[in-house]
Amino acid sequence: TGTGTPSPWDELPVRDELRGKSPYGAPQLDVPVRLNTNENPYPLPEPLVARIAERVAEAARHLNRYPDRDAVELRTELAAYLTRTTGYEVTAARVWAANGSNEVLQQLLQTFGGPGRTAVGFEPSYSMHALISRGTGTGWISGPRHDDFTIDVEAAERVIAERRPDVVFVCSPNNPTGTAVEAETVLRLYEAAQAAKPSMVVVDEAYGEFSHRPSLLPLLEGRPHLVVSRTMSKAFGAAGLRLGYLAAHPAVVDAVQLVRLPYHLSAVTQATALAALEHTDTLLGYVEQLKTERDRIVTELRAMGCEVTDSDANFVQFGRFDDSHTAWQAILDHGVLVRDNGVPGWLRVTAGTPEENDAFLDAVRAIRKESN
Ligand code: PMP
Repeated sequence: TGTGTPSPWDELPVRDELRGKSPYGAPQLDVPVRLNTNENPYPLPEPLVARIAERVAEAARHLNRYPDRDAVELRTELAAYLTRTTGYEVTAARVWAANGSNEVLQQLLQTFGGPGRTAVGFEPSYSMHALISRGTGTGWISGPRHDDFTIDVEAAERVIAERRPDVVFVCSPNNPTGTAVEAETVLRLYEAAQAAKPSMVVVDEAYGEFSHRPSLLPLLEGRPHLVVSRTMSKAFGAAGLRLGYLAAHPAVVDAVQLVRLPYHLSAVTQATALAALEHTDTLLGYVEQLKTERDRIVTELRAMGCEVTDSDANFVQFGRFDDSHTAWQAILDHGVLVRDNGVPGWLRVTAGTPEENDAFLDAVRAIRKESN
């Protein structure tokens, strides 16, 4: 402040590693077209809304009681969903659910990371991997990628061998680049991680359903230190629900019980998620439409002369800009909110409805004309 008077914030005895840091914060701006947080643009269909009301009403009759602490019915249905859509059989004993996959990741770091331990991720990647590491007292190691945003496997193997992290994050498809990771890459990183420590390898498949490639879930076979994390926020169009889950060896599910809060998953959440799972086929139909729109965005941006990273997610990384923040603002001035993830030269747009995507493509066309 220049007055020499410490602010109340300076005086708060917060942990040293949190001082001077910023919280996660995608702008929530009121603009006509919001394509900045990788949400699904389609509201839940009315029959599902009615079913949620029904199941929540039933749950409400028992809200004087704590919910099922082990969420057995929900985990059974999630396991059935994974088995049906990936062809790899998982059971409830191999599935765990929490309030968004962010909480799943936090529970994993509380269990396998923590003070004196480290986690590695290959950046640019999902910023919360580093933030949740910090929040749980886990040291963060930033690993590299190639210029095309694929993981540099040799460099990754070296980082793992030298730094011996306790947790290795592999985000596939990767946020914010959209890059899918080859099964072969995961296997090599898993081998490196086992040789170094052994450590846990967490595959974050939040966008798995949007990929051109099959899920990495079958890699769980015979690999007790591998975890696949998923969410209902994207493919199920239920970001507001806050429901994430993992699949792993049953021992991993047992281990996270040590850190989960009792009754962490409310009865309302469990009832709503179960209703949504009854409508899986309809919701996966929207996913197909979004994949088509995602591919159209890639094609049209390239036709305009933009550089675009191949995408297996419900968003597209595009550029390049001399100054991505100026480009972000220019697109916003045309009424379209995209995301500046701090990757120099690049921005990210979420696939929306066809109309929203047209508005976005028109905005990019316009700013390219303005800057010529
Ligand atoms: N992983 C990745 C890669 C993400 O992009 C997100 C959401 N942006 C999450 C996890 C967390 O999602 P949620 O907590 O809504 O499941």
